[in-house]
Amino acid sequence: MLNKRIGNMYKFIDYTWNPIRGGCLHDCSYCYMKRYNEEVGKILLASWEFRTGLGTGNSIFIGSSTDMFADNIPSGWIKKVLDYCYQTNDPVKPNTFLLQSKNSKRFLEFLNHPFMERAVLCTTIESNRFYPDIMNNAPQIEERVKAMEEIAGKGFKTMVTAEPLMEFDLDEMVSIIKRCKPRLVNIGRNTRGNISLPEPPSEKVQKLIDELKQFTKVNVKDNAKVWSVK
Ligand code: SF4
Repeated sequence: MLNKRIGNMYKFIDYTWNPIRGGCLHDCSYCYMKRYNEEVGKILLASWEFRTGLGTGNSIFIGSSTDMFADNIPSGWIKKVLDYCYQTNDPVKPNTFLLQSKNSKRFLEFLNHPFMERAVLCTTIESNRFYPDIMNNAPQIEERVKAMEEIAGKGFKTMVTAEPLMEFDLDEMVSIIKRCKPRLVNIGRNTRGNISLPEPPSEKVQKLIDELKQFTKVNVKDNAKVWSVK
């Protein structure tokens, strides 16, 4: 089923749709879907989801509950999802789609699929620094950036989400985000109250936003407004 946007979801998204679900390989400590994914258990392809009507003119985040481009997801499952979205999309009033992954190199495997031209491809850059105790099995930051650079270079639409934003080095952070050529950068904050992260001070977040605005659009989520950013 399509799930209406709730809580901390991007405001430009109308619905989320999760045909692949279950425990995420990356195991980020701040993951807000952890409890839900533990209930689902092992990763699975929800075959019944391929009867879901995706509607027309909607903005849909596919795979918001687990990273459906993680290395342990079979290619056939991903292809099935892309095929379904492509084949059911209304040519007159099409949906727009968001695909988000920390394993952005896996997007490259599917760039020849015609659906990919219709989607915005997003990766997470929570910091330029890799925090092993927090990011656990997620790909290294440089690996994410390199793949996004290649994807953007081929003309695909890209986006970066810096959420949950963690302490970073300003010049390096700006430079790696710029390499991804994002049409939009999202800034968000940790929403798991029981997890403490190394957060940057407000002035530094503001500087980051000012720098990013020199070359792209910036979306500051409500949860990040506590940093008093404009
Ligand atoms: S990659 Fe996303 S879904 Fe997977 S553990 Fe990290 S935050 Fe959760």
